[in-house]
Amino acid sequence: MEIKEVGIIGAGQMGNGIAHVFAVAGYDVRLTDISEEALERARGVIEKNLDRQVSRGKVSAEDRDAALGRLTMGTDLAPIGACDLVIESATENEAIKRKIFESLAPHLADKTILTSNTSSISITRLAAGTDRPERFMGFHFMNPVPVMKLVELIRGIATDAETYETLHGVVGKLGKSAASSEDYPAFIVNRILVPMINEAVYALYEGVGSVSSIDVSMKLGANHPMGPLELADFIGLDTCLAIMNVLHEGLADTKYRPCPLLVKYVEAGWHGRKSKRGFYDYRGDEPVPTR
Ligand code: NAD
Repeated sequence: MEIKEVGIIGAGQMGNGIAHVFAVAGYDVRLTDISEEALERARGVIEKNLDRQVSRGKVSAEDRDAALGRLTMGTDLAPIGACDLVIESATENEAIKRKIFESLAPHLADKTILTSNTSSISITRLAAGTDRPERFMGFHFMNPVPVMKLVELIRGIATDAETYETLHGVVGKLGKSAASSEDYPAFIVNRILVPMINEAVYALYEGVGSVSSIDVSMKLGANHPMGPLELADFIGLDTCLAIMNVLHEGLADTKYRPCPLLVKYVEAGWHGRKSKRGFYDYRGDEPVPTR
């Protein structure tokens, strides 16, 4: 099936990045969110990131303008239903995602393929709540989307071969690489990455090291480009906690219990970079460790 028009639901840090790469690759993109403010912010971020790509010679000024011309935004969910491909990228909360697919149902065209950018929630369960589990898949982008090369493809139990092949082709057209994961909690990347982040928070909680010493240790000692706490702030602490909860509940193993200190940061509303405070405080010129 040929994909021309792509609808993206949720204009947060992932949704705006997904809209950016699809528009640059020549797709017509409709981006929606319940928040006008999130849409305005998304437009600003996309323009800024495209300008940066132009200044680095990765995208021409003409292609930037053409990409922006292919992008439409609005809070109305209904027009998204007519797109060839829908990518749900709203808050990592199963109730919210189910409600979105329910509200979209009356507006869906027969041809439409539905996907979710969820980091951890069961694709089979989300698909079962729709009228087309055979044309539903996990389509998991990495953050920041314009930079990261991988897209995880997750088939639910009912996903058909044509849907998988179509999305595999789309990944190629975006200039990215696909990896297939079975539909188990948090798939491959986050199954391995987020428990490591949670362990770093335990190390902080138990006083093994400060925020700086934990991050410096993993950068210089394990050659990671970012420390685990810096990375947690980048992903969003609410998202990290949601993923740990899905692993804990889905695999019923105490090794996945979320660290109480991670829970406390989320309770405080310190969600990382997006709320200007997490394991670091981003309100000044330089990030300052909060512990
Ligand atoms: P975010 O908090 O930056 O953005 C979420 C957006 O969803 C917000 O703008 C919010 O207004 C919007 N939203 C909430 N309810 C909505 C609704 N009913 N209809 C439309 N929009 C709604 O979160 P994010 O980091 O962009 O994460 C979005 C999804 O991407 C999650 O499923 C997350 O697990 C996944 N993901 C995140 C990362 C990451 O590193 N942050 C990486 C890969 C995948």
